[in-house]
This record gives sequence, structure tokens and C-alpha cells, in this order.
Amino acid sequence: MDLNTITEIQRPSRVEDVKEWQNGYAYLAGGTWLFSEPQVNTHTLIDLETLQWPSLTATADGLEIAATCRVIELENFAAPPDWLAAPLLSECCHSFLASFKIWNEATVGGNIIMSLPAGPMISLTSALEGVMTLWPRGGEPRQVPVLDFVTGNHQNVLQPGELVRSIFLPAHALKKKYAFRRFTLTHLGRSETLIIGTLCPEHREFVLTITASTLRPMQYRFDSVPSAAEVRSVVEGIPLDHYLSDTHGSPEHRQHLTYYFSEQIRQELSA
Ligand SMILES: Cc1cc2nc3c(=O)[nH]c(=O)nc-3n(C[C@H](O)[C@H](O)[C@H](O)COP(=O)(O)OP(=O)(O)OC[C@H]3O[C@@H](n4cnc5c(N)ncnc54)[C@H](O)[C@@H]3O)c2cc1C
Repeated sequence: MDLNTITEIQRPSRVEDVKEWQNGYAYLAGGTWLFSEPQVNTHTLIDLETLQWPSLTATADGLEIAATCRVIELENFAAPPDWLAAPLLSECCHSFLASFKIWNEATVGGNIIMSLPAGPMISLTSALEGVMTLWPRGGEPRQVPVLDFVTGNHQNVLQPGELVRSIFLPAHALKKKYAFRRFTLTHLGRSETLIIGTLCPEHREFVLTITASTLRPMQYRFDSVPSAAEVRSVVEGIPLDHYLSDTHGSPEHRQHLTYYFSEQIRQELSA
């Protein structure tokens, strides 16, 4: 939609070109959310595309994903063969509501910053132990695990004017085996639950990451593949009011699916 409150668009080539931060400023990434509803309190968009950050940088240490990396670029990334978890990138890119129109424009950073429970880039990067680099206005860069960045439904730790620069996925996480489960009420619908398990082939550590069903990502670590009773106990330990309630599913149904899929993941990774 047209945003008729916008009176200025800045296209900086460096972040320092954005002088003083004001109420009414907003960073523009893919624009898929910004242009999807009226932004009555926004008068200036700061387009991040002109910063021209390299989208994906793979090294022996891991994968740095620029906040401005488009979902489609992540989907097309060719990973080294020993990054066993690489197919998860594609699985999560396909986990948006409604389709290719969103993947082609939406950015990885924009999705995490929206901090919606059904944000598949949150699922991906929290399961793969991602750490975000944030650039506060006038301060030193700070690093925050994705798991701690999202604090609730559409809530996170980002301060006014603070920019998300990148998300780093460590190689040790990318080398893990994984299992993925997702449920949507309708074909191409919004995720009602999205659960990922990872298993370290070397140390056997098992990590269960629960997203979409809960208001924010929840993660549980075990030294080895847990028993069925341990998985049940973890899921039963999540209070019902930590589950999302909306037209895509009730807390009770989300809790049921969370347990059902977590147990499937446990069995798959213990095989
Ligand atoms: C049809 C449709 C389906 C959708 N499906 C889903 C879905 O399944 N799951 C889901 O989670 N969302 C969904 N969305 C919402 C939204 O499109 C996505 O979350 C998308 O990934 C947002 O990314 P973007 O790059 O387009 O962000 P933008 O719309 O450009 O920005 C989103 C917000 O993040 C801020 N921002 C962006 N980049 C930065 C940065 N680097 N630093 C600081 N702030 C920044 C912007 O100022 C804005 O407040 C959907 C939207 C539509 C219209």
C-alpha cells in the first residue's frame, strides 16, 4: 500500500550519514511488513539497501548473514558439504505464510526484528545458535543470541534507532544433524508450530528449539538424546500462557502439537 505519511526517504551509503535519530524514522529493509499496513507514526524511511552489505559470507568459522540478506538469497545459498544442517535454510525459507512474493523481498533481519512467533528466520537462526550483531546509535556494537533477542510476541531488545547488522551462525551448529517439523492449519498458511531438533554428531548434544507455538523461541539442551519422559517433562513445563492464542491455533492445540512433534524429532534423531 502507499504510505501517505512518508515525506522523506534517505538512502545512506554509510550508517554515519544518518545524523540524529528522530521519532518517526524507520529503517526500510524488504518493506513487506512496512508497506503492508498504515504507518501513521512514520514520516521518514531510511533505506538499508544502499549500505550494500554483502549478503552472505561463509568461512571456516560459520556463516555471516547480513540483516539485509533477502530470504531468497539464503534459499539459494550453496553450503559446504559438511554443513549437514544446510537444508534447514531452505526448509525455513519455505515456512512463510503465503509464498514466494514474501521470500523475494523480505530480509532475514526484517523477519527477526518483526519478532512474530511465526517468524521462520527466528526458528532457523535460534535453532542454529545464531548470534546477532547490533549497532546502537552512538555506542559500541553489541552481540545478542537470537534466542535472547526475541522477548515476546512482536517484542525484542532493540532500542530506538539501533540497527541490526548481521546474524552469525557458527560452523559447529551448521555441522549438526537436524530434524524439522511444522504445522499450518491451511496450505501455505502461517506456522502454528515449528520445531527443530539438532544433534551434534561428535559430542551427541541434543538441542530442541520450539517456535511458532510459543510467544518467543524456547530452547532446551541435553547432553545426549533425551528419553521420551524427558521430552514430555520439558513440554509440560511450559506454562499454557506461554503459548500463542490466535485464529491459527489455540494454546491447547499448540501444546499438543509441540509435544507430538518434539517426540517425533527425538525419535528421528535417536535412530
Ligand atoms: C502476505 C504476508 C505474509 C507474511 N508472512 C509472514 C510469516 O509467515 N511470518 C512472519 O514472521 N512474518 C510474515 N509477514 C510479515 C513480514 O513480511 C515478514 O516478517 C518479513 O520477513 C519482514 O521483513 P522485511 O525485510 O520485509 O522487513 P520490513 O518490512 O522492511 O521491516 C520490518 C521492521 O523491521 C525494521 N527493520 C528492518 N531491518 C532492520 C534492521 N536491519 N535494523 C533495525 N530495524 C530494521 C523496520 O524498520 C520495520 O520496523 C508476512 C507479511 C505479508 C504481507
